[in-house]
Amino acid sequence: MEKKSIIAGNWKMNKDLDEGVSFVETAQNMLLDLKNVSVIFSPPFIGLSDLKVQSPFFKAAQNCHWEEKGAYTGEISVSMIKSCGAEFVILGHSERRQFFGETDLWVNKKIKAVVSNSLKPIFCVGETLIEREKGETKSLLKKQIEIGLNGINNLQEIIIAYEPVWAIGTGKTATNIQIEEAHMYIKKIVSELCNDIPTIQVLYGGSVKSTNAEELIMVPGVDGFLIGGASLDVKSFCSITQIVEDIQENK
Ligand code: PEP
Repeated sequence: MEKKSIIAGNWKMNKDLDEGVSFVETAQNMLLDLKNVSVIFSPPFIGLSDLKVQSPFFKAAQNCHWEEKGAYTGEISVSMIKSCGAEFVILGHSERRQFFGETDLWVNKKIKAVVSNSLKPIFCVGETLIEREKGETKSLLKKQIEIGLNGINNLQEIIIAYEPVWAIGTGKTATNIQIEEAHMYIKKIVSELCNDIPTIQVLYGGSVKSTNAEELIMVPGVDGFLIGGASLDVKSFCSITQIVEDIQENK
């Protein structure tokens, strides 16, 4: 059975509790009768328990620690996230790698913790501009994925987000060819890891907007979007979601 497309909004460090609650209420009222799309809101941790969602709307945390509990000031465990009703955790976002020194090995530990708590990781991978210009995109993706997914069995439960770092928050979108190549390559690596037909979903992230969503969702291998900037405005987020819903409905 074909899986639904996924539209995930990553609010990063934006929106206080009231703003988050009102955004989610408005979005659920605007997006009635979604049949082909699952929508994921990723608030800062403070919003995880108070945002009320009902399928096909879900909540994601933007990070977690791999340990269950302990002396890790400022951190949050997967079971705490789960207790707030979230079902997904974004991991390995390039901002965490760049500003907080997150490594592939840490991401692997976090993915293991998320999967063993029966939540789903949204595992971000992607190259910098320098890596792309040096022709290192594929080797970098392979390394991130092989280390990130090392020792994980249920690979079909993992969602990967391909986010070229140079396209995040810059207004620059990867070309359709670059996106298709990367998504197909990611699916190939994952299928090789599990010796199986690839059922993994790969989202594209990097300056997705309502003006380019239609074109991007048609790119082969794109199963949805991880959206930063445009997910902060309820009209643009809902408009992207509706575009994807309508395209999938008319397929
Ligand atoms: C992101 O941060 O995951 C992202 C894709 O951001 P933006 O949509 O703003 O490029």
